[in-house]
Amino acid sequence: MDYDNNNIFSKIIRGDIQCEKIFENEHVLSFMDIMPQVNGHCLVVPKSPSIGLLDADPAVFAPLFSAVQHIGNAVKFAFNADGITIMQFNGEAAGQTVFHLHVHILPRITGIPLKPHNGTMEDVEIIKKNGNLIRNALIRLAP
Ligand code: AMP
Repeated sequence: MDYDNNNIFSKIIRGDIQCEKIFENEHVLSFMDIMPQVNGHCLVVPKSPSIGLLDADPAVFAPLFSAVQHIGNAVKFAFNADGITIMQFNGEAAGQTVFHLHVHILPRITGIPLKPHNGTMEDVEIIKKNGNLIRNALIRLAP
C-alpha cells in the first residue's frame, strides 16, 4: 500500500478540509476528533507523510511525541482527567481507518468507559467548546 496524498488528514494538513485546530507548529497539527470516544478526544498528526508508525521517518517521533506530551497535559487539565489514554493504530487489522500517522489523546475519568472507535459524529458545538477548553489550557500551562 502506498501513501495516498488525498487521505482526509493530508487534506486537513493542506487546509483543504476544516478541522477544530488546537495546536500547530512546523512539525505537527493537532485537532479534535469528530467521532470522539470520550469527551475531549483529540488527535496529533505529523505534517510529513507516512501511513503509520512503521513506515515513518524516525525523525518525526521526537516532535510528534513532544507535542503529544504537551497537548496531553493540557487535555488532562482542561477536563480535570484522572488519566490520559494514548492510542495509535497501524493497519486495517489493527483498527486504523485513516492512513496518515496519528496519535489519539483521550482524557479518562475513573469509571467512564470509552465509546466505540469510529462510532458517532459529535455535535459541532460540543467539538468547538472542547477545542476551546484545550486551547485555553495550552495558554494557561504555557511556561
Ligand atoms: P484511526 O481509526 O486510528 O485511523 O483513527 C481515525 C480517527 O480519525 C477516528 O477516531 C475518526 O473519528 C477520526 N476522524 C475521521 N475523519 C476526521 C475528520 N475529518 N476530522 C477529525 N477527525 C476525524
